[in-house]
Amino acid sequence: MRQPIIGITASLTTYEQGSFTGQSKLILNSNYINAITAAGAIPMIIPIVEKLEIQQCQLGLIDGLMLTGGDDLQPHLYGEEPHPALGKTTPARDDYELSLLRQAFSLGLPILGICRGLQLINVAFGGTLYQDLPEQYHIKDLLHSQEPTPDTATHPVSLIAGTRLQTIFNTNELEANSLHHQAVKNLAPGFIINAYARDGIIEGIEMDSDAFVLGVQWHPEQMISTMLPIFQAFCTRS
Ligand code: MN
Repeated sequence: MRQPIIGITASLTTYEQGSFTGQSKLILNSNYINAITAAGAIPMIIPIVEKLEIQQCQLGLIDGLMLTGGDDLQPHLYGEEPHPALGKTTPARDDYELSLLRQAFSLGLPILGICRGLQLINVAFGGTLYQDLPEQYHIKDLLHSQEPTPDTATHPVSLIAGTRLQTIFNTNELEANSLHHQAVKNLAPGFIINAYARDGIIEGIEMDSDAFVLGVQWHPEQMISTMLPIFQAFCTRS
């Protein structure tokens, strides 16, 4: 039996200089790849495509779907108008990943969302987001957009007893990095919170069922020495 193949989404951006200026490109931080290989699975970047038939073929090639970090989601996807502090959005990526996520879920594939990926899961299943924490969240004594390097833990997260995430790490607290200016506002129906920061910000969610649909707001792929268990658990289900 071969190792599981993990489909990994990528960011869509534009060349700002050089011969290809103005053309679009996909980019992915290599640490997502490294995390999947460290967990014993085979990483495969899956590019944004519009055609449903091609998306279906992509899903037929993978055993698990990892939704990665990146730009803000368009607020209309959760019924809001854009706040002035909203960041850059990439509608083509939103459309693709929402379509892929819904299909992957109906196929029963395990799904892991990281940062934007968690937010995408919450929105796909009916939840909402804070568009900008400094502008919209009432407690401002914790920095969620960290200054140090991404492999540095900056705030602890409390894991909720009995959740899948807490079972994976078998601890009640993790030291996490924090590279986000948005977060879950209203939790999607059918989901439970599995991790909080001490200011009440939701740092992790999971589907309240046997399905592996789990998201974390931090970037475990940047801290693989302590965060490997989440990738191992995800890949083992794949
Ligand atoms: Mn945080």
